[in-house]
Amino acid sequence: MDAALARPDLKPLKLYIDGRWAESASGRTIAVMNPATGEQLTTVPDANAEDIDRAVRAARRAFETGVWRKMDVSARERIIWRIGELIEKNKEELGLFESLNNGKTFQEALRGDIPPTADIFYYYAGWARKIYGETIPVDGPYLNYTLREPVGVVGMITAWNYPILLAGWKVAPALAAGCTMVIKPSEMTPLTTFKLAEYCREAGVPDGVVNVVTGYGPTAGEALGRHMDVDKVAFTGSVRTARALMKASGESNLKRLSLELGGKSPNIIFPDADLEKAARAAFWGIYANKGEVCSAGSRLLVHEKIYDEFVGNLAQLAKKMKVGDPLDPASEMGSQISQTQMDRILGYIETGRSEGARLLAGGERDVEGSKSKGFYVKPTVFADVQPRMKIAQEEIFGPVLAALKFRDAEEAAEIANATIYGLVSAVWTRDIGVAHRLAQQIKAGSVWINAYNCFDSSSPFGGYKQSGFGREMGPHALESYTQVKSVWVAL
Ligand code: NAD
Repeated sequence: MDAALARPDLKPLKLYIDGRWAESASGRTIAVMNPATGEQLTTVPDANAEDIDRAVRAARRAFETGVWRKMDVSARERIIWRIGELIEKNKEELGLFESLNNGKTFQEALRGDIPPTADIFYYYAGWARKIYGETIPVDGPYLNYTLREPVGVVGMITAWNYPILLAGWKVAPALAAGCTMVIKPSEMTPLTTFKLAEYCREAGVPDGVVNVVTGYGPTAGEALGRHMDVDKVAFTGSVRTARALMKASGESNLKRLSLELGGKSPNIIFPDADLEKAARAAFWGIYANKGEVCSAGSRLLVHEKIYDEFVGNLAQLAKKMKVGDPLDPASEMGSQISQTQMDRILGYIETGRSEGARLLAGGERDVEGSKSKGFYVKPTVFADVQPRMKIAQEEIFGPVLAALKFRDAEEAAEIANATIYGLVSAVWTRDIGVAHRLAQQIKAGSVWINAYNCFDSSSPFGGYKQSGFGREMGPHALESYTQVKSVWVAL
């Protein structure tokens, strides 16, 4: 990577409301950091309830005037498609911003984050023309039909681990449905959400339809959650914030919610599986994006017959993993997002040790050379983890693998289901009976058989249990951005 490109001179950013760049009411700002170096990249406004209100009013105006929802559907389709093209055209810059701001490797951002973000716009572009109701046979002399209408103004609150992708998963279906929106990205990673808003404008989305307001969760986020004129909040983040948003909805206007939350996902390995393939997938299942992944395969369940060998091999791979400068093409893992997150991860590693789990790899901060300036953690493997241990129950959101042992499929299912979460899961076996039986038994929104981390814009993604409700992607996501009206005509 070109050295000048890697150090972009970023001007302080402003709020994006009603198609204009605006200061925050208080004039306060938030520093946007590069976690890999500790350097400040730029600042964004620290918005409060007044700023949120301004943005919601702009979104409401755009919704009621119908500049977007009443536009010809073919025109909306072309605009949404164009957003995807602009993302693709700017993929290098977007990948770089994601890497600089989040600490993930540039290669991961470029290959893993940006292409599916472009694709979600291509996918939903076509849906703009395909959202329609039905005619229903009813008793009596009536014609009864349904209209599928946009839900209205949507507040979008996103996490810092996949900033532009998480925003895209919400913005694309909301645009297809005809909604207007106010996006509050994580205060730590706001850069690419502003870029997305720029592309929306360039592609032809009218002013006021897409607004971006930066700020902290308890102020700006809470204000969005409590606003009386927001019809729905689409959220990605922690269970704790989800509870606050449900409370805020209950205490304000009962706005709808869709919640994409955390996970403690089981990756189950049987002795008859392709063990080489399973080991590679288990490795990337936990260490991709430095383990800061909601769908991380953080609980590895291995059959007792192969447990020692499989887990031992994985620990050897972890020890050889190249952790370092996110912009260096040789780096396989970058820096954690922040000091707070790193301390949290190291705290869990301490807990694992004191609970009696056996540390096979990593287990500490990586401060070699220039890494001391960032928040690097060595890829960690714990063996002999018991299902009730804290490191087998709580989401660590870091590069820490907890390896558990099971006797048979029944016990694997029991352990797999023994957490509050149910986001994803995987089963590795050549026995199709066992694989499909487990697919039915596991309480999770996705089950991957002989694979890990499969995603597609067409396929629904979301949680069971406390991993949330509502789905991203596919036709399923459109359900939460639309509502159904039943129309009766006396004949
Ligand atoms: P977080 O809940 O702390 O923050 C998420 C967003 O909520 C941020 O924008 C934050 O500013 C905002 N927020 C915080 N407090 C708020 C409040 N009181 N009211 C309104 N908004 C508030 O989560 P995080 O630490 O940024 O992200 C990590 C979590 O996100 C993990 O649990 C992870 O599993 C989850 N996650 C889930 C998915 C998924 O698709 N299921 C994807 C990525 C991350």
